[in-house]
Amino acid sequence: MLKEIQESIDALYPEMVEIRRYLHQHPELSFQETETAKYIADYYEKLGIPYETNVGGNGVIATLKGEKPGKTIALRADFDALPIQEENDVPYKSQVDGVMHACGHDGHTSTLLTLAKVMKGYQKELPGTIVFLHQHAEEYAPGGAKPIIESGALDHVDAVFGTHLWATTPLGVLQTSKDAFMAGADRFEITIQGQGGHGGYPHETKDAIVIGSQVVAQLQQIVSRRLNPSDTAVVTVGKFQAGNTFNIIADQATLIGTVRYFDPNVQEKVIQEIEKIVKGVCDTDDATYTFDYFKGYPPLINRENEAKIVLEASKNVKEIHKSEEIIPVMGGEDFAYYTIEKPGAYFFTGANKAGNPYPHHHPKFDIDERALPIAAKTLIEAYFGYQKQ
Ligand code: MN
Repeated sequence: MLKEIQESIDALYPEMVEIRRYLHQHPELSFQETETAKYIADYYEKLGIPYETNVGGNGVIATLKGEKPGKTIALRADFDALPIQEENDVPYKSQVDGVMHACGHDGHTSTLLTLAKVMKGYQKELPGTIVFLHQHAEEYAPGGAKPIIESGALDHVDAVFGTHLWATTPLGVLQTSKDAFMAGADRFEITIQGQGGHGGYPHETKDAIVIGSQVVAQLQQIVSRRLNPSDTAVVTVGKFQAGNTFNIIADQATLIGTVRYFDPNVQEKVIQEIEKIVKGVCDTDDATYTFDYFKGYPPLINRENEAKIVLEASKNVKEIHKSEEIIPVMGGEDFAYYTIEKPGAYFFTGANKAGNPYPHHHPKFDIDERALPIAAKTLIEAYFGYQKQ
């Protein structure tokens, strides 16, 4: 049956591409993806697969109950886009100004929808139940996974699998980990209040740009000098806003950044060190500050057993010529919440488009669409792999 299923997936390749391109042209931002949710619901309506909408927000969950006994397994695809102006010159370019599917969630959605269409044809022979989990709002914490879990919609689910089309990994390569796979991702905001004034009279001011610059420089020493070298973390200041013009000393500086980590103890240490540095610098320079820290998605830790199932599953997909366990990446993912609650594993499906070096969240991001059937095949192979054990 599995060989036949894989052939059916291949046969639907044109539809997969068509759906992906339609969604690519009609992206919606996190928590606002109501038209996409409706598109997904309509698709299940036409397939005659029962579904629920508004799960934990804009989430859509369809359930295909096989006629043979077995476990209930959720396959997850996210469907939100990003506030980015697309710079690709392609026929399927985003039609929404300033919004773009720059992470491949359009591809995730078309993969799962067409897989559902294929599997509907095998309902009689199907062991167990497939839960097609279409999750909204992955890109913006607190995200969609948490409220979906809290809604109870996954209480009866035995395991969860998911994949990310990965633009920087070659086509035909699968990557996963039996342990930590993606980082915990937090956000912080620091506002430094100095005292502005005339650019020619610095001694009468407290220059927020100079103070802020020292904070930025010292933050670099958290990872290099204050953490144990064997611990992993990132402290990045992504935005530094201060000043108005060339001859005025800035009154205030705002620094916004992200922290990445795998170990909650490291996370706590980084938070303490950031505050110590900000306080130290501001005390020395007679400035005041505010420091706000927002905890985002926790680290994505794969379950070993389910990661092994994914690695085994990939051997049955002929387009995959290499499956590898990789060291964790520093990107964040709210799939993390699923593997906290349930057995499960997440993996990358290589989707690098020849000649396109641009990473995720870039205005020129794109994927090789031939990765879509590979993702679908691996997900369904993992489903059957889990049923067997
Ligand atoms: Mn993503």
